[in-house]
Amino acid sequence: MSEIRVEHLSKAFDAKTVVDDISFAVEAGEFCVLLGPSGCGKSTMLRLIAGLEDPSAGRILIEGTDVAPLAPKDRRIAMVFQSYALFPHLDVAENIIFGLRVRGVPKAVRRQRLAQVAGLVGLGDYLDRKPAQLSGGQRQRVALARAIAAEQPICLMDEPLSNLDAQLRGEMRLEIRALQQRLGMTMIYVTHDQTEAMTMADRVILMNGGRIEQNGSPVELYERPASLFVARFIGAPA
Ligand code: ADP
Ligand code: MG
Repeated sequence: MSEIRVEHLSKAFDAKTVVDDISFAVEAGEFCVLLGPSGCGKSTMLRLIAGLEDPSAGRILIEGTDVAPLAPKDRRIAMVFQSYALFPHLDVAENIIFGLRVRGVPKAVRRQRLAQVAGLVGLGDYLDRKPAQLSGGQRQRVALARAIAAEQPICLMDEPLSNLDAQLRGEMRLEIRALQQRLGMTMIYVTHDQTEAMTMADRVILMNGGRIEQNGSPVELYERPASLFVARFIGAPA
């Protein structure tokens, strides 16, 4: 399990600062939700941690080591995107193990890992289908399975349920939370949905305009909102 520390992190695109001197820590094995309205900088924060963007200032430490010199593939991070980012021409099995193949994991290990994760997320009967032949929920499970198959200690998810209907979202929240606990992953989960944040998180970091409004447990945010913005966003009595 890996702890993550973000120290005075900033990111500007041209003249616009979208992540503005942000610091926080996520403990090993913690389920941290980055919550906030559209455009507040959540995805940029995840991309910085994953190494898909370079910070303008500040640093990111994983298990105490500054990850700035590390390429995304060397950061021991799995990521699930909102769009799932599945390969349309590959079947479910190939999509799940794609990253393992790229990293040179031997075929026998890939097969074994595939059988395990496909069972975990209930895709055992769908391994030879193409993404186009799956429902939204099944595609989401493929993306989840791919992240789990990577066996990384850290998982970053960017609005993974936003394309699903309300009932399936509710089910998948429970499944993701159960898998995270079972596998002991450190999770940073991005959403703009306060219900999702409040039901899934150990820690909620509520962002607004590139800054942190409040960092605490769901109960703390609800019972002791640090600002009117927090109270309104969470829907707590102000
Ligand atoms: P969120 O995920 O919270 O909706 P984002 O991190 O995607 O927010 O975006 C924060 C702000 O940064 C937005 O105003 C967005 O337009 C801007 N932004 C994000 N990525 C880029 C980029 N590559 N170039 C320019 N502006 C960007
Ligand atoms: Mg986003």
